[in-house]
Amino acid sequence: MASLMSAPAAPAVRISATQLLIDNKWVPSESGKTFATINPSTGEEICQIAEADAADVEKAVRAARAAFERGPWRKTMASERGRLLHRLADLIEKHADELAALESLDNGKPVSVAKAVDVAATVGCYRYFAGWADKVQGKTIPIDGDFFCYTRHEAVGVVGQIIPWNFPMLMQAWKLAPALATGNTVVMKPAEQTPLSALRIGELIVEAGFPEGVVNLLPGFGPTAGAAIANHMDVDKVAFTGSTEVGHLIMEAAAKSNLKRVTLELGGKSPNIVFADTNVDEAVEGAHFGLFFNHGQCCCAGSRVFVEQKIYDEFVEKSAARARKRTVGDPFDPKTEQGPQVDQAQFDKVMGYIDSGRAEGARLACGGERVGDRGYFIQPTVFSDVQDNMKIAREEIFGPVMSIIPFKTAGEVVERSNRTTYGLAAAVWTRDIQKAHAIANSLRAGTVWVNCYNVLDTRAPFGGFKQSGIGRELGEYGLQQYTEIKTVTVRL
Ligand code: NAP
Ligand code: MG
Repeated sequence: MASLMSAPAAPAVRISATQLLIDNKWVPSESGKTFATINPSTGEEICQIAEADAADVEKAVRAARAAFERGPWRKTMASERGRLLHRLADLIEKHADELAALESLDNGKPVSVAKAVDVAATVGCYRYFAGWADKVQGKTIPIDGDFFCYTRHEAVGVVGQIIPWNFPMLMQAWKLAPALATGNTVVMKPAEQTPLSALRIGELIVEAGFPEGVVNLLPGFGPTAGAAIANHMDVDKVAFTGSTEVGHLIMEAAAKSNLKRVTLELGGKSPNIVFADTNVDEAVEGAHFGLFFNHGQCCCAGSRVFVEQKIYDEFVEKSAARARKRTVGDPFDPKTEQGPQVDQAQFDKVMGYIDSGRAEGARLACGGERVGDRGYFIQPTVFSDVQDNMKIAREEIFGPVMSIIPFKTAGEVVERSNRTTYGLAAAVWTRDIQKAHAIANSLRAGTVWVNCYNVLDTRAPFGGFKQSGIGRELGEYGLQQYTEIKTVTVRL
């Protein structure tokens, strides 16, 4: 493995927003408390951030409610909402280098990836939903009798949004863009590990001209600020991305408070099925990308690589060779493919899974160790001879750890692929078109890729079956989760 380790130099990144955004004003938290955001390459503090809790959520919900019921947002034309979103996209594009650097500093992802993937997809997402703003239409319905009946698709109201740290800026866009296109107001909590890009975008939201109270940003912790949003009686919907465990808490909070609408995008243990009739080298590269992209910190990571027995040994050998070549190091070095895991807790969790793989008898084909002695860098790790019942084959690892599992027949691998509480994504590699479609139909997952992996697009829906979530994000289906349908019937 090519690796670091001269200690990465702290890059010169300008940080301007560290407070809460409420009613278009930057304010300290009511409690006056702050918390540190950490550079995962060094473990050192970058800066202090205002820490929101229930009192700040209360203020923000009041601002969002006022903006929704009475403020200028109420009367903002649909086309104008689209124009504001376009303006925001233009501003993000203008500040692409700065935003990529901020994301890389706070999260640890390579700055080149932050720019080419995170910033680019963020801009694309705001533009796509900007286009929808004035195209959300109801229907006229020929009901019985002498009536005129039609539907309106109206904003849900005040929307709470809680986002994770793996794609901080992009997850913010997936949530904000459809909510704003359809006229909602938002109270959002970014992840405590990665608040910087969300707050900088908050400055651009104000600059773009969104009225007061429309977007409120509350960095803070899950059990305090996050729970206050999920429990709030005046929040009409909560949209959450993160762990399945917290997903359960969000739904429980919604059930016990005001039955707010809930959409969840949760974890996964996605199967990536490789048949012997495929181009092996392409599948090896595809599986490598499917697992190691973003340091394995993807909800849709292809973490169960099922490989047909006939090519199993060759596939393991080639996958280990590819993983050994992966460049781990300073996210600001243009050669780096993989930076540090996001924090100490994630580092410890992933190393714990590596220990458990060894202890349960999987064969370590490569990796398995920490890289360097500071920051949260982990070697790209490949286990072979993994069995379905091992912990590394059942639980979401969210790190650079690939499990390669042998199979013999198509029927068997479908059944084993589906034997999980998750259902976010899946992939199949084969040259046989009938087999590809048959397997795509049989897999219980929200997304199935054929001969590719991690192809996400703002126009196509994404979300989970089973405990991988509720509802869909992106595309027209994602938009629907941000409107209520009203039936109006007029006697003629
Ligand atoms: P997490 O706890 O589910 O965090 C996601 C978001 O929910 C964060 O903003 C978090 O705040 C917030 N949160 C936590 N507890 C909450 C509560 N009781 N009420 C309301 N909001 C709450 O995930 P994590 O601890 O960061 O990561 C743990 C595991 O979750 C990972 O190892 C991975 O398996 C999974 N995960 C999945 C995704 C995904 O894209 N599906 C993303 C991230 C993590 P804090 O910032 O305070 O934690
Ligand atoms: Mg957490």
